[in-house]
Amino acid sequence: MRLPLEKLHRAFPELDRFADRECRGMIHRVVWSRPVLMILASVAALAAWFVIVAPMSLATVWLSQTQYFARYDIELVAVGLLVNIGLGTLAALLVRDAAIRMMVREWVNSTRCLKCRYSLLGLHTNGDEVQCPECGCSNNIAARGLDPSTLTPRGSA
Ligand SMILES: [Zn+2]
Repeated sequence: MRLPLEKLHRAFPELDRFADRECRGMIHRVVWSRPVLMILASVAALAAWFVIVAPMSLATVWLSQTQYFARYDIELVAVGLLVNIGLGTLAALLVRDAAIRMMVREWVNSTRCLKCRYSLLGLHTNGDEVQCPECGCSNNIAARGLDPSTLTPRGSA
């Protein structure tokens, strides 16, 4: 499993030909081309945080006052709460990461050659057309509802 703090674009071999900075720019454009989905993903990440942190924090405080602990130990409660916040943050990052990965995967797959599925990312466009270097097929990018500029890191074909 890939940790959510690692470079997300390195999960996609199609993006290996681009520098980290270029990949971050492309992913940023892909993600924010669908702001409603990104806002929903952020809300889901926040919900995941609360679902983890709230009940576990209540359980931590409750457990600290039971017979299992001889006295109310504030240090133990603080450590427990910090662990809960860490787990909640990890869950939120995993949810957010999964949503971004899904959007990037859809985008990468939408930019493949229709005949041989070769990735057309980074290729020079001729108007709305991109010539597949693998099979020679001419792909009309605009006909798929894609902006030809989304194939390149700087947004200019
Ligand atoms: Zn092809």
